[in-house]
Amino acid sequence: MKIAIYPGSFDPITNGHIDIIKRATKLFDKVIVVLAKNSAKKYRFSLEDRKEMVETSLKGFENVEVDVCDGLTVEFAKSKGAVAMIRGLRVVSDFEYEWSLTAANQFINSDIETVFLMAHRDLTFLSSSTIDELIKGGIDVSSLVPDIVIEKYRDKK
Ligand code: ADP
Repeated sequence: MKIAIYPGSFDPITNGHIDIIKRATKLFDKVIVVLAKNSAKKYRFSLEDRKEMVETSLKGFENVEVDVCDGLTVEFAKSKGAVAMIRGLRVVSDFEYEWSLTAANQFINSDIETVFLMAHRDLTFLSSSTIDELIKGGIDVSSLVPDIVIEKYRDKK
């Protein structure tokens, strides 16, 4: 069984992430969506909220699991028997960041491949921070995020 992990902050999850997850499930037998818990990073939402948003959005998805990792993602991948880590690429600036991340991960464990999926053509502009700005600006983002994300923002007010 080929397992891949899809690590990220998901702060909050967007339809861009969900598109990558759907496509990854066609390539792998199981995809584990892994929420990063990085104590040095400041998140908009608590881990519990980020996880709840991911789990609710992925309800009914077959072969998808949700987990949390507070250490090195490559080592987490290995512990789960995963052969690959999925990442999404939107714009050239993503490439620069992802390239150094992949190089560091190769240094740690070159057996875990990083697999890149290009963003859906309609979702290349979509990031968690864009969503945050749009919502704060009063823009309707219901076509860009699952309902649970809009609800969580409403609760936060
Ligand atoms: P991180 O903090 O690890 O970058 P994110 O939650 O921002 O976590 O993103 C996780 C992964 O999903 C990254 O590889 C990112 O490039 C990718 N991603 C984010 N938004 C999109 C999108 N709209 N389309 C495709 N990939 C995306």
